[in-house]
Amino acid sequence: MPGQQSGTMVPVSVASSAVAPGTVPSVDPAVRSVLAEAVEVARAALSEVGEGAVGTYLGVTAEDECAATHRFAADLVGYHGWQWAVVVAAAPESDHVTVSELVLLPGPESLVAPAWVPWNERIRPGDLGPGDLLAPAPDDERLVPGYTASGDPDVDETAGEIGLGRKQVMSREGRLAAAERWFDGEYGPRSEMAKAAPSTCMLCGFYLPLAGSLRAAFGVCGNELAADGHVVHAEYGCGAHSDTTLPTGAGSPKFDAYDDGAVEVVELPGAAAEPTDHPAVTENAQSEQTD
Ligand code: SF4
Repeated sequence: MPGQQSGTMVPVSVASSAVAPGTVPSVDPAVRSVLAEAVEVARAALSEVGEGAVGTYLGVTAEDECAATHRFAADLVGYHGWQWAVVVAAAPESDHVTVSELVLLPGPESLVAPAWVPWNERIRPGDLGPGDLLAPAPDDERLVPGYTASGDPDVDETAGEIGLGRKQVMSREGRLAAAERWFDGEYGPRSEMAKAAPSTCMLCGFYLPLAGSLRAAFGVCGNELAADGHVVHAEYGCGAHSDTTLPTGAGSPKFDAYDDGAVEVVELPGAAAEPTDHPAVTENAQSEQTD
């Protein structure tokens, strides 16, 4: 209706024999009546195209003062929830409606492909294979030009002295992010292996400290039977530590030894009321006495 403000879609009765019983089409109040009433014009256009069954009428929305879109359920195999959309138009002050466009569109319950994600945002650690090329993004904040101060005293000093430098070096942000990953990872100080270790990597002969500012907390394990080749935190550790001694029979450092031959005295319910000459003993001790 000309001059009417566009507002919330409201259910409005539409005079159409094609509306399924119990279905209330939603009609945008901003749609001119001549366009809103062109339901059968839209349905006839779909039938003429003959692309598939046209189902329940779903409603109409305004495109502008001269155009509106009628929607119908699309009863097509494999297109659950899709809708036919027919754009109808009428010149201002005209009651002659024409069909501008027909299209099949997904509805709110349609099964559609997930949103497209740029390839460089889909890659995850471990995806890189032999022969693959993975260039860093131009604005990768983990890298800075090699001729600028990197914030790493060792890198800056050495590069400055010899007048050479790599084209790019890792930025402070990049090194901090790596340190956080390594600290929280499998070879960090909070892992189960580290908690049960007899000592730390920092004191291990297989520990190869990194260069640069990360040297303070990280190194590489050179023990082929342990975390060989992995960056380990200085406070990480494992049972293959170079100072590990042969088992003494005292058990692991994490668990107390359990002596299954010891006799444990326990109180049994009612034992106090009927004192006996012999204290109650554990099942192990009893079995030893009867064997
Ligand atoms: S052998 Fe164990 S303790 Fe030694 S550096 Fe490797 S991971 Fe650390």
